[in-house]
Amino acid sequence: MIKKLSPLFCSLVLAYLSFVLGGCGAAVLSDEGLAKQAGNQFNQMKKKEKVSTNTSHNRMIQRIGKRITDVAEVDIQGTEWEFVVFDKPEPNAFAMPGGKVGVNSGLIVLSDGNEDEVAAVIGHEIAHVAFRHSNKRMSQAMGLALGGAILDVAMRKKDNTDRQIARGAYAAGATVGVALPFSRSQEREADHRGIYYAAMAGYDPRAAISFWKKMQAKSKSRMPQFLSTHPDSGNRIAFLQGNMDRALALYREAKASRGEKPNP
Ligand SMILES: [Zn+2]
Repeated sequence: MIKKLSPLFCSLVLAYLSFVLGGCGAAVLSDEGLAKQAGNQFNQMKKKEKVSTNTSHNRMIQRIGKRITDVAEVDIQGTEWEFVVFDKPEPNAFAMPGGKVGVNSGLIVLSDGNEDEVAAVIGHEIAHVAFRHSNKRMSQAMGLALGGAILDVAMRKKDNTDRQIARGAYAAGATVGVALPFSRSQEREADHRGIYYAAMAGYDPRAAISFWKKMQAKSKSRMPQFLSTHPDSGNRIAFLQGNMDRALALYREAKASRGEKPNP
């Protein structure tokens, strides 16, 4: 039987990391309500979109999902996680409030089937859920959108992303946690927490860097949807690199406790 890092150890490390990087923005919408709405929208997606029947893709995503949510459990208890692979060529992944996670087959293809890279993306997505980023982003957008006439005046002072978000939240039927781009500070939080989730689940954290490089190279031909909802937090690669020593130490520890050999 594979041993994992103990939950107490995980919570101590993650508590320390939270202390280093505080949360941002207030979440004022009902988490329960958002989770319910997201669950309904996810069910619609599963009916409307083609769900992948690729066995190795499905096994990989379920395996990564289980390992990373086991670690993230200390941050976000009692979540009914669901991981679905959609048969779509666009390299994209998303996680909705309540724990609904979608990964396009195109993202697995972009990573050349590298499980560590896919785990880096899923770690990042799960961090967005753990930090309740969609709730905070939507709360902020709703706040900005209060009062139609004031909206335009208020918007002139806001940057482009906020304007886009306010419009998105204002329009009925904005998809929970999928349509609204995250803010750059939320991206940084998700990069930070995500790399540790993956490392503590025994995935090579260096894969986060190789993955983002592939995604950036892809954006030279056409902006992938994934980058439009996950904007560059500014020197993303340098930021990940700055956290790499600690993440690698956790990765090696996690591999040792699983009785597996880490990548050199
Ligand atoms: Zn993100």
